[in-house]
Amino acid sequence: MTRKRLMAGNWKMNKTIGEAVVLAQEICNQYEEKWDDACDVVVCPPFVDLKPAKTVFEFDRVPIGVGAQNVHWEESGAFTGEISVPMLKEIGCEWCIIGHSERRGYFGETNEEVNKKAKALIAGQIKPIICVGESLAVRDEGTTLDFVTAQVIAAFAGIDAAQAVKCVVAYEPIWAIGTGRTATPEQAQEVCAAIRATLAELFGQATADEMRVLYGGSMNPGNVDLLIAQPDIDGGLIGGAALKKESFVQLIEACLK
Ligand code: PEP
Repeated sequence: MTRKRLMAGNWKMNKTIGEAVVLAQEICNQYEEKWDDACDVVVCPPFVDLKPAKTVFEFDRVPIGVGAQNVHWEESGAFTGEISVPMLKEIGCEWCIIGHSERRGYFGETNEEVNKKAKALIAGQIKPIICVGESLAVRDEGTTLDFVTAQVIAAFAGIDAAQAVKCVVAYEPIWAIGTGRTATPEQAQEVCAAIRATLAELFGQATADEMRVLYGGSMNPGNVDLLIAQPDIDGGLIGGAALKKESFVQLIEACLK
């Protein structure tokens, strides 16, 4: 089974509109058609940058998608500070990261909320990138696979195979995010394989084989090759290295090899 790779940049709370337009344009300027054969490319900037970045990609007619970094599960209402699926939809946002460890850790996002967000996104035809991953304490305890499996099961509660296939799961060990410390290819493969096995139990092997599982956590041009060579790693969710045109483009080009 060959799955098309996916390289998604998580810009986090970086880039004003002006800066976002510059970076989007720089990425566009490097775009080559062979990228599209090798991988899907997505950038996930802050909410205010989504439309400007989308406009750059549309104007240049390059198939680079945009994704949000969070969403609320209700369509509208008294939820001060939140953004809904229809709002994302209207600006042409095709993807949305949910359950990022920074949202779970700093903003208390729970497995149940991740599940509600996943369902709302699927209903609105925006593809969820569902983040899971263990802390260093969990890894040291030796319970990583149980912990991550439980996160996956909770995220997909009440979701059927036809809906699940639209989702991407990103394995992001918290101890590797923004720390410069990457999981070894073997560590990342072990957990991504366990995620796929869980998806197979939930939805059947054929669906699990179709779904993309990404690795995220200090992925950079120096370590990308060995990570994406692993059989169950279908690309990357990239933080720091997605903020510079040179490194992001190098990560995309690693998929061409
Ligand atoms: C992330 O935040 O999703 C991430 C993987 O960050 P970094 O690449 O900077 O570790």
